[in-house]
Amino acid sequence: MNDAMRDTVVYYLTAGTLELADRARALCEEVHGKTVLLRALIEFSNTCALNCHYCGIRAGNHAFERYRLEPTELLAAALGAYAAGLRSFVLQSAEDPWYTTARLAAVVASIKSSCPEAALTLSCGVKTRAEYRELKAAGADRYLLRFETSDPELHRRLRDGIGLGTRLKALEDLKAEGYQVGSGFMVGLPGETEKTGIDNALLCAELGLDMVGIGPFIPHPATPLAGSPQVGLEKTLRMTSLLRLLMPKVHLPATTAAGSLDPQGREKMILAGANVLMPNMTPVPARKNYLLYPGKICLDEAGEKCLGCLRIRMLGVGRELSYARGDSLMEGAGNVA
Ligand code: SAH
Repeated sequence: MNDAMRDTVVYYLTAGTLELADRARALCEEVHGKTVLLRALIEFSNTCALNCHYCGIRAGNHAFERYRLEPTELLAAALGAYAAGLRSFVLQSAEDPWYTTARLAAVVASIKSSCPEAALTLSCGVKTRAEYRELKAAGADRYLLRFETSDPELHRRLRDGIGLGTRLKALEDLKAEGYQVGSGFMVGLPGETEKTGIDNALLCAELGLDMVGIGPFIPHPATPLAGSPQVGLEKTLRMTSLLRLLMPKVHLPATTAAGSLDPQGREKMILAGANVLMPNMTPVPARKNYLLYPGKICLDEAGEKCLGCLRIRMLGVGRELSYARGDSLMEGAGNVA
């Protein structure tokens, strides 16, 4: 941690939430203007081999329906987002063994050839460096892999024995393969302290990430963390501001989890320094089964309606939607086409 980072953390610890948000928002406007970048989120499989304790779609939960969009359905969803004008897609899934790297690479290639102007982000978990290389060669531009918590002991416990090092190594590999890299964490996991939160933010800064996704942890009733306390949104808002102050250029989404915990949660995150929104473009029938946490919003609103809703919401906080690719502003970011 350098002196500037230390000063920022001290400021974070002493400032009130609104004052912190004001400063972070001013900095965000200086660097990113008054536009909010859109990323179309397509959740293409909820079939998971892992058992993360916080996650509603973990392998051990049998109380809901599993689905997987076939490659042609995934391409169709991307084409729908492209037709709506979106130029940045995030293909997210559980860690689904059916989607081998070869299958995924083939879909990536078909989406990139049909939607040449769009930037493609994958968010499909840990893979080998060779697999990341193959997906990059197929046309993937960016990768999103949250480290979830920077506390090694907590990480191992909540991720069913998998160590923090596995995700950190994957993030390093992604950077080395030329991706624009996103990571992040949940706010308010049981067992985390104020220090864990600060360490999480500092780790994001140290990793030199192009994007940081955070959101409140929301306990899911069919997981080992059922009944854990729900922390309020304020912690996430303070963390958003801290991240913005530490990383002025980073792309920071106002996440669905924030909007699920508080009906104005995404607006509040924008006012605290976020600059990205991720409209859900998953085909509506599948959406209700990608329930990482209960109370998830936007389960029945299709493409155009969703974008209209976001436009109005953002007008309310003085922001305009941008349909641009929204490449990384970080120096030395992975290949910017
Ligand atoms: N399989 C991919 C994508 C995971 S889902 C991967 O592991 O990277 C995307 C994110 O949802 C996770 O990274 C996690 O941070 C978040 N998430 C999972 N369960 C959650 C919960 N109960 N509350 C809030 N966020 C949750």
